[in-house]
Amino acid sequence: NPLHGASFALSTPEPLQLPADSGAEIAFAGRSNAGKSSALNVLVGVHGLARTSRTPGRTQHLVAFVLPDGRRLVDLPGYGYAKVPEAVRAQWRDALEGYLMRRRSLRALALVMDIRHPLTPFDQQMLAFCAAHALPCHVLLTKADKLGRGQTAQTLLAVQRELAQLHGVLSVQVFSATAGTGVEAARGVLTRLLGG
Ligand code: GDP
Repeated sequence: NPLHGASFALSTPEPLQLPADSGAEIAFAGRSNAGKSSALNVLVGVHGLARTSRTPGRTQHLVAFVLPDGRRLVDLPGYGYAKVPEAVRAQWRDALEGYLMRRRSLRALALVMDIRHPLTPFDQQMLAFCAAHALPCHVLLTKADKLGRGQTAQTLLAVQRELAQLHGVLSVQVFSATAGTGVEAARGVLTRLLGG
């Protein structure tokens, strides 16, 4: 596993507090409860490394993990979290935008979607942002274990079509943290995006 050995670096609500903006990192984004933490945990192979949506508090934090070679994975706050007041959400949107716009070491976005509810309006915004800024984005359609083969293939095709229209460096795959589907493939893609 090329992502082996990732360890917790820090958790902060403020993008400027992240580790020094050098080297390379990939940020994980996704709607709250999409399965982002589960995906991160299985990708690095450390159970419980990323907090799940049920962990109280810290939902608005950016969490940095460091690989042994210094490259990083950054867990962005899950969006669409209903219990967050609008003022806090606005603050978080600003922080996210600041991070995405200014983080020079950001090589790509891993966008996690529940395969049963792909391409939410916020997902679409993230994809449009990536396309507009030539930021590569790899979509993980997770919880694939919840769908049959036909529906899985159909959803993958629909998302592929959507990505093709955006003219960005956008890719998508089927994933399941529970069943292990697509884990090796995702590790390969993310490692390449981190620069090999
Ligand atoms: P986050 O809020 O995006 O970080 O989502 P979590 O990783 O906390 O997952 C939300 C819920 O979905 C939890 O109850 C997980 O157990 C469940 N979940 C996450 N990934 C999968 C998956 O691949 N398959 C299934 N069946 N459930 C999953």
